[in-house]
Amino acid sequence: MAKEKTEGQNLKEKLLSNKKHALFNMSEEDIKKGDEFCESYKKFLDSAKTEREAVEYTVDLLEKKGFVPFKPGMGLKDGDKVYVNNRGKAVIMAVIGSEDIKNGVNICAAHIDSPRLDLKQCPVYEDNEIALFKTHYYGGIKKYQWTVIPLALHGVIVKADGSKIKVTVGEDESDPVFCVNDLLPHLAAEQMKRPLAQGIKGEELNIVIGSRPFKEDKLSEAVKLNIMKILNEKYGIVEDDFLSAELEAVPAFKAKDVGFDRSLIGAYGHDDRVCAYTALMAAVNCTAPKKTAVTVLTDKEETGSDGNTGLQSAYLKYFIADIAAEFNEEGRTVLSASECMSADVNSAFDPTFPDVLEKRNCAYINYGVCVTKFTGARGKSGTSDASAEFVGKIRKLLDDNGVIWQTGELGKVDMGGGGTVAAYIANLNVDTIDVGVPVLSMHAPFETVSKIDVYMTYKAFSAFISA
Ligand code: MN
Ligand code: MN
Repeated sequence: MAKEKTEGQNLKEKLLSNKKHALFNMSEEDIKKGDEFCESYKKFLDSAKTEREAVEYTVDLLEKKGFVPFKPGMGLKDGDKVYVNNRGKAVIMAVIGSEDIKNGVNICAAHIDSPRLDLKQCPVYEDNEIALFKTHYYGGIKKYQWTVIPLALHGVIVKADGSKIKVTVGEDESDPVFCVNDLLPHLAAEQMKRPLAQGIKGEELNIVIGSRPFKEDKLSEAVKLNIMKILNEKYGIVEDDFLSAELEAVPAFKAKDVGFDRSLIGAYGHDDRVCAYTALMAAVNCTAPKKTAVTVLTDKEETGSDGNTGLQSAYLKYFIADIAAEFNEEGRTVLSASECMSADVNSAFDPTFPDVLEKRNCAYINYGVCVTKFTGARGKSGTSDASAEFVGKIRKLLDDNGVIWQTGELGKVDMGGGGTVAAYIANLNVDTIDVGVPVLSMHAPFETVSKIDVYMTYKAFSAFISA
């Protein structure tokens, strides 16, 4: 017979919060479902390492699931599914709801760009008979982490005649890969005295691409010439074609389970493809929502959301206005009544680096999807800070739908900080809150997340947009 609880134990249960590993609150079936969901997520990670590839994957899936390109004036009704492809780098999709659109829409917004090394516009050079690419890093990276790992090259080259070539090298098992070299420890005494931020400097992130010369005596830059000859034969390009190219060097390795218990996934680009994938799956599995469900997968978050594919541009606002116009409403009327989950990752507590997080107010892996009331730095600078009323509403929604969730702040006060697209959407007069997966080693070439948290994030977005 179970022992009866003491008065204090009962009171504790009733009054004090009781956070624990999500596993204790999940059924075996739910755990299995989550693990299965993550198998598809790993495939997505491997096939969509750049924003362009994520858009391709998304559009392909949307077409299969009955979404059609949105055209102003097409006439929309309850249950219709539409999407807009913004320049191949961002995509918005909507499932039209049964409720009057003037009551607002539910927006889920994630980003599909990740930190990486972009090639400069004049990238190819030869130095001491080694051919290399000059790069310019994209997003916030710890530069030393990007040396001595296999890199793949993804992107597009637009030739002088305007034709476009897609490039992917380093993903197939038979492909070559590329790498940034680092100094051997034997000769690194001076380098090791540099502060960590300068251990590898921006102009030292040069990618090795070849070392055999074009065989002809007294020819200068013969290694570079030989590389250009290979590229010309394969892609029909000349050196000047790099001027109108977007080539991104990303880690060449694939997503893998981490740990003997396979509880974690290690991969490049969880930030923020983990929220992009979960939001996308919530959207394609959303049928007959009451409110119109809008899902945005955006570009340029990692560089500040500027530019016409970033969320500081008007493309989301225009889309909402266009949808509103189909129902003879103003975009601003719809936006002002709308709600948004800004779907982005947060930092997870790392026992090796406990000092940067405040243990009572940070996210933990395996404790479920993380809800972040405010982001920003210092005195909440740059945050939209969701209202208590909106947090209360989201809290009830998650609890009612069996979503295991936690709350977490990005770091101790004055330790640093960061932002998401939340503020830009909130600035459109939309109630917005950050919701996403806690990540270990965020922005590293190999980031880690928990499978349970990924699944709970999918459940959170599903509950929100299907409401
Ligand atoms: Mn992010
Ligand atoms: Mn980020």
